[in-house]
Amino acid sequence: MKSVKLNNGVEMPILGYGVYQIPDYNECKKSVLTALEAGYRSIDTAQAYQNENAVGEAIKESGIPREELFITTKLWISDYGEEKAKKAFQISIEKLQLDYLDLYLLHQPFNDIYGSWRALENIYKEGKAKAIGVSNFFPDRIVDLISFNNVVPAVNQIETHVYYQREEDHKILKENKVQHESWAPFAEGQSDFFTNGTLSEIGKKYGKSVAQVALRWMIQRNIVVIPKSVTPSRIKENINVFDFELTREEMLTIKGMNTSKTKFFDHRDPDRVKWFSERAK
Ligand code: NDP
Repeated sequence: MKSVKLNNGVEMPILGYGVYQIPDYNECKKSVLTALEAGYRSIDTAQAYQNENAVGEAIKESGIPREELFITTKLWISDYGEEKAKKAFQISIEKLQLDYLDLYLLHQPFNDIYGSWRALENIYKEGKAKAIGVSNFFPDRIVDLISFNNVVPAVNQIETHVYYQREEDHKILKENKVQHESWAPFAEGQSDFFTNGTLSEIGKKYGKSVAQVALRWMIQRNIVVIPKSVTPSRIKENINVFDFELTREEMLTIKGMNTSKTKFFDHRDPDRVKWFSERAK
């Protein structure tokens, strides 16, 4: 598995498995086990997904040595603040049955970001997380966080797919040595994603699916991807993207699909911030 080197030297697989919207314990555990058997070594969960214990059980049952795995979880905004964040981290690693995390992220750019970041910096310094980072941060917020703190986030996990390519974010993240990680690499199937004509035409040449072309395009942009599926055949399909290479022309054709618009919501929209804050109470 190809990996990227984070700003502190830690190696992170460029492709992992995401477990958002798999709330059922048995389904999540079974899917993570399928992913691990298929060769995935990086798993992306979150306190808010309420499936850290299923992920933990699957990891334990797989018998894969801990050092071969890369496990990410995220702090939810209801537990932001230095003291609360410390406790929430402890609960997360207990549910995951781990001694340390590979990556711990602030899930959203809301509430007490700075108090929470101090907690993450301490967790990092104590070696309980090999790397710390953020998610859903726009460039101005990440530059601010870097400017007034000690540890530079290793990763920013943001919505990124062919319809919302985040080129400006990518440039600024790179300049600041923050690894770009994509969430919703398939835009969760919106806008007839899996039957898209451009991607399927490119895929035909290589005997690859729309999903595989979409992932490959991001990997070639050096963006970490964490596709989600509970379907065993798709879990295997999504990791099978390392035996072909898109040409420069194909990369440019896909670049032309950018709408520069979110398929979900804007984290800078005041109504959306309010929506989140109500869920944090
Ligand atoms: P994705 O873009 O990965 O889409 C998942 C959907 O695509 C599911 O409906 C799945 O169906 C389907 N699918 C997967 N592979 C294929 C395939 N090869 N062919 C056809 N259909 C396919 O959405 P996610 O939102 O899950 O994003 C991925 C991960 O990113 C999450 O699981 C989570 O870890 C992370 N994330 C982080 C966020 C954040 O705020 N930090 C927000 C959202 C996601 P099925 O499962 O039925 O097979």
